[in-house]
Amino acid sequence: MKYCKNCIIPDTRPDQIFDNNGVCNACLSFLRNKKIDWKKRANEFTEILKETKVNDEKWNCVIPSSGGKDSTYQAIRAKELGLNPVLVTATTCDLSNVGKKNIQNLKDKGFDTVEISNSGLIRSKLNKIGLELIGDIAWPEHVSIFTLPIKFALKFRIPLILYGENPQIEYGGPQKSLNNSVLDRSWLEEFGGLIGLRVNDLIENYGFSKSELEIYNYPTKEELSEFKIKSIFLGYYENWDSIRNYKVAEKKGFLKYDKPLEGCYFDFEKIDNYQHGLHDYFKFIKFGFGRASDQLSYSVRRGLISRKEAIKKAGKLEGKYPNSYMGKKLKDILSKIDMTENDFKKICDKFTNKKIFKCDQKGDLLKDEYGNLIKKNYDNN
Ligand SMILES: [Zn+2]
Repeated sequence: MKYCKNCIIPDTRPDQIFDNNGVCNACLSFLRNKKIDWKKRANEFTEILKETKVNDEKWNCVIPSSGGKDSTYQAIRAKELGLNPVLVTATTCDLSNVGKKNIQNLKDKGFDTVEISNSGLIRSKLNKIGLELIGDIAWPEHVSIFTLPIKFALKFRIPLILYGENPQIEYGGPQKSLNNSVLDRSWLEEFGGLIGLRVNDLIENYGFSKSELEIYNYPTKEELSEFKIKSIFLGYYENWDSIRNYKVAEKKGFLKYDKPLEGCYFDFEKIDNYQHGLHDYFKFIKFGFGRASDQLSYSVRRGLISRKEAIKKAGKLEGKYPNSYMGKKLKDILSKIDMTENDFKKICDKFTNKKIFKCDQKGDLLKDEYGNLIKKNYDNN
């Protein structure tokens, strides 16, 4: 496992490419962003707004929103730009108290919001299948945040969907995705979380009916041809900055978590869903890095922390066995998806990459007294 020489992202990250100097594409992308003519991009954005504001009296823009800092920022920006946005929330899998308050805050602050929830029973089954099959508890959430806004926009004939950051730009991705401003079906299939588990597989292999999974289906070509909708990333048209977004959102009443957040360096993101901790733990056991590494790398690129300090902090903060998240105990998080802790541990071991963690002579994973895995190396030495 090799780490970027500039930040602390390892080469085990999917879609990560290092250049000849050992620098990751997220760092290269960050440097490239400094040279982008943002004025030109802002003008392009104004042109798009002109094209799409078909009727100013109606909703003319959908903002996919979890109530988080980024979508709160997007909603504020959309109003500043003269749009009439409606915020569409695909209810998350295990909504936290602070997440609930942040959604309510947007309603109180004068935004139109719509929450769409599928059956909690079906979703819990999907969480469990996702975890067992592909080691991803968040499958229903990752898919519905893309399928619901476009379904809603089609239904109400709203011409624009405004997403926030393109994660490939901030965190790295294949070269062709770095200049992408548009989110369409092919983007969703490649990056949007469908990989590994498809709606049709679930119907065929697990006996779900079509209607039970309706929410997770992206509209068909025919449906999309009935009304033209543009789905774009605001992060393509203006320089995206999570910390700035948080500060803007905070002024509008957005709440961060009031304690250190398990596995994280920031306390203002990934706070709406109690299952985030499990999701991030699986990222750690599969790829050897967690949420804190992403956030620390973000901070290293911006000169907010040294690389050396970031490595130290990542080692301390992330990768702990997820006994709790935001105060909710693991056994309570698991009981919602009808799973015992014993079964959970077996699934963890199944998805742990043994090349990254220390094993005994028999090849079994070594763990400390708290059940934590032991990483072989934290830096390039
Ligand atoms: Zn890097």
